[in-house]
Amino acid sequence: MNRRHFLKSGSLAALAATAYSQAPLMAALPSMEPIKITDIKVITTSPERAHLVVVKVETSEPGLYGWGCATFTQRALTVVTAVEEYLKPFLIGKNPDNIEGLYQSMYVSSYWRNGPVLNNAISGVEMALWDIKGKRAGMPVYQLLGGKARFAADLYAHASGSTFEQVEDSIRSWMEKGYRHIRAQFMSRRGGSYGSGGFDPNKHPNLPPETRLFEPDKYVRTIPKMFKHLRDKLGFGIHLLHDTHERINNAQALYLGKALEPYELFFWEDPLPPEEVNFFKQLRSHTTTPIAMGELFNNPNEWIDIVQNQYIDFIRVHLSQIGGLGPGRKLAAFCEPYGVRTAWHGPGDNSPIGHAAGIALDLACQNFGIQEQHIFNEPAQEVFEGCLKIENGYCYANEAPGWGIEVNEEKAKKYPWDRETPFDYHWGETRKPDGSIIKP
Ligand SMILES: [Mg+2]
Repeated sequence: MNRRHFLKSGSLAALAATAYSQAPLMAALPSMEPIKITDIKVITTSPERAHLVVVKVETSEPGLYGWGCATFTQRALTVVTAVEEYLKPFLIGKNPDNIEGLYQSMYVSSYWRNGPVLNNAISGVEMALWDIKGKRAGMPVYQLLGGKARFAADLYAHASGSTFEQVEDSIRSWMEKGYRHIRAQFMSRRGGSYGSGGFDPNKHPNLPPETRLFEPDKYVRTIPKMFKHLRDKLGFGIHLLHDTHERINNAQALYLGKALEPYELFFWEDPLPPEEVNFFKQLRSHTTTPIAMGELFNNPNEWIDIVQNQYIDFIRVHLSQIGGLGPGRKLAAFCEPYGVRTAWHGPGDNSPIGHAAGIALDLACQNFGIQEQHIFNEPAQEVFEGCLKIENGYCYANEAPGWGIEVNEEKAKKYPWDRETPFDYHWGETRKPDGSIIKP
């Protein structure tokens, strides 16, 4: 044996005998014996207005199961069917540890894919598999993604009002609670925090009575005036955001982006509907207002171009809508080298499990930008035990394994969906004065 070989083998032997001895390490790990999916259940509940859909994946290990969010509140029943009738029989008996393999398998199992119903159904299972993985590892999910890049997720709160002074007061109340980022929305009349409101049927006798009137020209002229008022009164020491909710046309977007420049928004959300994604090149070249986009995106082909060409500053998809945590992690990683930051959709039509998935990514991804806040009411916190803690405008992950959230199935039954009023959120009844539909 030459000297070099001796040293190499000697050091290997030393490693095996001491620091890298496998026996104590293996003893410290939780059991990772192969297990199977034994059942999949769907829990429907509505402790707030939204029709929440959560998926429970049960395993062959007693007491081991996971929770995932599959909430697509506007078409909630279709997601329930997709999980119960299609994914459940497809998955029973499979190994829940193989998250990526199962995701890919579910994704192509319908042959035609990529729509919101199937993506949300897959997400319900996929997020539940991460919960199971975290419980098996004895770690919160953010640890499985590489651990923390920051101590908490900075949140933006929602402020609105039907006068500029009301919006200002609403912002001040969030500032007093310690928030650094606040979205400002103006309600021109009653209802509709995106600039639409109720309407007077006497003035518009040809419109259906359920109409939410939206006048895009008025809207794009009003919003810069609102921000002038807010900056005059509040100064520039607070980050302000605004959501157009896709409701204007390309020329109006060019106008509004430029008109907002003096007010230095943190971001301008969803200026155009996803069908106009090819216009972002022109929009980007005409305005310095930072652009957030993606709430309605379903699949990578919708964001590849605008991310790699750096036409947007923030990507803000609904995580269950794109298929769950894994697709979100891949999207964040794709955005990072292009300087595009994340701003996951975080409204009340996203269960506390879905929010926990967003926060796990917020903590683990370097290119986190901001997180939309939703404060769950008391009934929701009863149903979802362990809702994430919010303090001083920051949201903190649970440190318990998995999502650290337990769904109380008995309490969930106390808040059944209201089937009488389907949750369509007026998307199909928002019209211009001539009766044509406004596309969100
Ligand atoms: Mg939005």
